[in-house]
Amino acid sequence: MTDFLSLAAPGVRQLKPYQPGKPIEELERELGVSNIIKLASNENPLGPSPLALTAARAALEDVWLYPDGNGFVLKDKLKQKLGVAMEQLILGNGSSDILDFAVRAFVTPQDEVMFSEHAFAVYPILTQAAGARAVVVPAKNWGHDLTAMRSAITERTRLIFIANPNNPTGTWLPAAELEAFIADLPAHVLVLVDEAYFEYASYPAMGAADYPDAIAWVGRYPNLIVARTFSKCYGLAGLRVGYGVCHPQVADLMNRVRPPFNVNSLALAAAAAALDDSEHLQQTLALNAAGMDQLTAGFASLDLRHIPSVGNFVSVDTGRTAAPLYDALLREGVIVRPVANYGMPNHLRVTIGLPEENARFLAALAKVLGR
Ligand SMILES: *Cc1c(COP(=O)(O)O)cnc(C)c1O
Repeated sequence: MTDFLSLAAPGVRQLKPYQPGKPIEELERELGVSNIIKLASNENPLGPSPLALTAARAALEDVWLYPDGNGFVLKDKLKQKLGVAMEQLILGNGSSDILDFAVRAFVTPQDEVMFSEHAFAVYPILTQAAGARAVVVPAKNWGHDLTAMRSAITERTRLIFIANPNNPTGTWLPAAELEAFIADLPAHVLVLVDEAYFEYASYPAMGAADYPDAIAWVGRYPNLIVARTFSKCYGLAGLRVGYGVCHPQVADLMNRVRPPFNVNSLALAAAAAALDDSEHLQQTLALNAAGMDQLTAGFASLDLRHIPSVGNFVSVDTGRTAAPLYDALLREGVIVRPVANYGMPNHLRVTIGLPEENARFLAALAKVLGR
């Protein structure tokens, strides 16, 4: 048989695929337990807005038609909400698509892509798939060290990924620091600010008063791309829809590598409707802030340290190798996220759930720790 490995693109040969969390049904079967709660993928425990579901159900009637390849209705709503021009917007099958387009439109095997230690796992995968060199800059207090990142820029640096806040650490960069970094970038470097958790981080009760809205800077810095998603606070992870905001010329170039009809019609309809439900969003954000307090208070009473987070998740230092605790939690019916593959072998990342889910997780954690 052909050795397909030898046929694969060089970057793909050594690639390890992103490891998604296991679905609940599979684990229940494997472990013979029921009533599993999943606090592993930063999903919204309230689910989506009922308006989004109604819109998706209505769109189901027309699934025999191709979706609007330009996503006009959704883009028009985003344009008004964000105060940007239509030409500055690009839609993705999840915001992962936006990250992918940025790499495919701008990065060649001769280039370097930079990101921080402990950064989102999709950045190294996309970089390697493009055959480019990944420059991983050591973190500072679990977060981005922008001074070190600035020093690591070379002639070959083409794209820098910055997740604000970062997943899985939850760390965030204040406005002044991040804007100074972007303003100081050489003209040959693009920066993608990944704001998958923007709505959570900018909610006042999360306490990040100088957390920035990078979309406000797009008009000033033509080499800035901002990515956001409907997967997290809007509860539409399964439909796959996100967007990018950038300079019209950058959007045009990314649009050239975008597969036609990359966002399906149910996703387009649901996302547009979700934007109308500010009440559901407020409920989501308030629930999250309260859940964060509940979890961090629980960690303190277990004498565990956590990394302060402004997302809908928090990484806790278990004080030992976390893998056996992850397994023990599974047997208690609680799925969290091990983050050893992010260089954090002693941490577990847990998504903020409903109050009763948070309580069940804390009780299970105390039990598996033997407290
Ligand atoms: C969840 C997440 C995304 C995007 O996920 P999509 O479902 O593809 O929109 C992007 N960046 C980070 C840091 C995330 O955690």
